[in-house]
Amino acid sequence: MLAQSRLTLEGQWLMRDGESARRMLHGVVDQLVDAWRIRPEHGVTPVDADATEIRGWLDRYPLDQAHDIEDVVPDLLAALDRWTVHTDHPGYFGLFNPTPTWAGVAGELIAAAVNPQLAAWSHAPFAVEAEQRCVDLLAARLGLPGTAGGHLTSGGAEANLTAVLTALTQAFPSYATHGLRAVDAAPVFYASTESHLAWLKIAHATGLGREACRLVPADDRGRLDPAVLEAAVAEDRRSGRAPFLVVATAGTTGAGVIDPLPRITDVARAAGLRVHVDAAWAGAACLSDRLRPVLDGIERADTVTVDAHKWLSVPMGAGMFLTRDRAELGSTFSVSTSYMPARVDDTADPYTTTNQWSRRFAGLKLWLSLLAHGVAGYGAQIERDTELGRLLHAEVTRAGFRVINDTPLPVACATHPDAPDDAEESWRWHCDVAARINASGAAWVSPVRFCGRPALRACVISWRTGPSDITRLGRAMAEAIQLTSPDRLSR
Ligand SMILES: *Cc1c(COP(=O)(O)O)cnc(C)c1O
Repeated sequence: MLAQSRLTLEGQWLMRDGESARRMLHGVVDQLVDAWRIRPEHGVTPVDADATEIRGWLDRYPLDQAHDIEDVVPDLLAALDRWTVHTDHPGYFGLFNPTPTWAGVAGELIAAAVNPQLAAWSHAPFAVEAEQRCVDLLAARLGLPGTAGGHLTSGGAEANLTAVLTALTQAFPSYATHGLRAVDAAPVFYASTESHLAWLKIAHATGLGREACRLVPADDRGRLDPAVLEAAVAEDRRSGRAPFLVVATAGTTGAGVIDPLPRITDVARAAGLRVHVDAAWAGAACLSDRLRPVLDGIERADTVTVDAHKWLSVPMGAGMFLTRDRAELGSTFSVSTSYMPARVDDTADPYTTTNQWSRRFAGLKLWLSLLAHGVAGYGAQIERDTELGRLLHAEVTRAGFRVINDTPLPVACATHPDAPDDAEESWRWHCDVAARINASGAAWVSPVRFCGRPALRACVISWRTGPSDITRLGRAMAEAIQLTSPDRLSR
């Protein structure tokens, strides 16, 4: 009796009626679009990020009490506006965090509200097929064969993990069932010292151990040197290790350097090793006919990483793993249980071909964004960004800096004659200059080490960035030098 009265009298706790949901969502959308419109008038960076103050703000909204969300949202957006590095600002020249396309934002909202479960094809047949179209488009533009396949991942790090798991499974027949301990010699794989160091975490997580990630010294232009790679593989073999994979980076995170893919692939093939190309941000260049040649050789890779949430400009998180042989995914991730729905003929259930189980519809934002802008629109944007990269190079030079990296991609690593000679002092000096530029609110850049040399890094990322933003960055860089080297006028 009691249970029944609870059911009838107390209603549905998490429910909102349709009209009030509509009001709330419209309100959110209006505020987001307004904030976005005025963003360029505000600074890129929070000038007063203080953990105590932020925690004090959060104390005003204890989570053990219910609040009226319509009241909370404006306050929340103001807090995010104040305490976020605005990666959607045209002056954001930082790590590859894009301004999301509005089609991508719409895709995110729709995916959240419909909330299809992509673990099994039969639960979300449309969603699984739509994601496959995105993967197929990228695979074709990269030049992978008709046997290619792949899937959306949470990001580049998960795609790279997938590359190591598939490579281990193919290279060592006992790995899947009996694990690394059943492999006679210690498996090792190769990437350059300039590669993305999630490789170390992946070596750790797969049980290979961080030492199994052999970081091959890059040459003085930041590239993986095929001759040094060849020697490292031979030396490891002589020492009784078991090389299984070479990772080439197409567009290093720090400096946009593209490893010599054809020659690295030749070395790897001659040594019987698999090749993975980590093209997390620069892989998007395949959507431009003019820029596709910078990726030449990528079509010979066994597996490739391309992030959607970098140069393809959709909201985080969405990466992609591509393989030239989709059958390898089944041998790496297959599992069967009674509680999952039965497989449908001529389809694959993503929980048996990927590292995730429950899957969100991460590909919808990419599908919608590709549909909104087309390959032609993306190609034109990517070409414009590289054009702006040349302007960036010129402005940075005009501000008295010297660009020390060499790449067709729009990223400049630059140092200055005022920088101290001592490596540690120089690092601190570059950190100070970056902090001053960022404190100006005009731009956001970061310190980086390129081939061990401290530098400032600026990268064209946002489709909102235009020539005037780059001029403003150049001015902020020149002014920061004046402030960081107070004695320079007296010299
Ligand atoms: C960003 C990046 C990654 C990691 O990708 P996430 O999406 O951040 O997980 C890996 N490799 C390269 C070259 C990258 O630039």
